[in-house]
Amino acid sequence: MPYYKFRNNNHKLKIGKIICLARTYKKHAKEMDSDIFKEPVLFFKPSSSIIFNDETIIIPKMSKSVHHEVEMGIIIKNKCKNVSKKDAMNYVLGYLVGLDITARDIQTEAKKKGLPWSIAKGFDTFTPISSVILKENITNYRNLSISLKVNGKLKQNSNTKNMLFSIPEIIEYISKIMTLEKGDLILTGTPEGVNTIENGDILEANLGDILSLKVNVKDE
Ligand code: MG
Repeated sequence: MPYYKFRNNNHKLKIGKIICLARTYKKHAKEMDSDIFKEPVLFFKPSSSIIFNDETIIIPKMSKSVHHEVEMGIIIKNKCKNVSKKDAMNYVLGYLVGLDITARDIQTEAKKKGLPWSIAKGFDTFTPISSVILKENITNYRNLSISLKVNGKLKQNSNTKNMLFSIPEIIEYISKIMTLEKGDLILTGTPEGVNTIENGDILEANLGDILSLKVNVKDE
């Protein structure tokens, strides 16, 4: 079981379940030809797919088209269920910037057949995450720049204010379905600009002024 890395302190916390949202930015849903729903679309990634700063995404032989998706991550502070929007922020420990790496060709095939996305999203190394910054250090979570550069070129560039659901709404919705536990990670979906990554690429993700993540890419 992997542990989070924290900025500026020695917290020790295991990474719990990883709950991901899809279609939370309108322009990304559009580029994927996806409908927008009234409620968030949820899926899971395995904690075995986690890697950290300066590590390497491995492109699996099974895929010919692997995409980057930069996302804001929320770390849950305490066990909770049926949390209201009003109380939701009390259950947030902190934030990170992560990548929801996706085998797009496998996902497209799964969508056509009505199958789950577990394979497309679940390969080892497919969830790079930055260190965690505690909630107290980011007051404007509703208005943070979120971006991704590939080999120094800006590919994704948006702001968390463009999300279709707020963090309190997301926590209220998920906690209606499942108990959230200390250390769970919510990846809140990607803005537009997703594209393929290749052997040798360097990816740099940024959230606000303080959270950053740098990883490289290699073929299996
Ligand atoms: Mg995603």
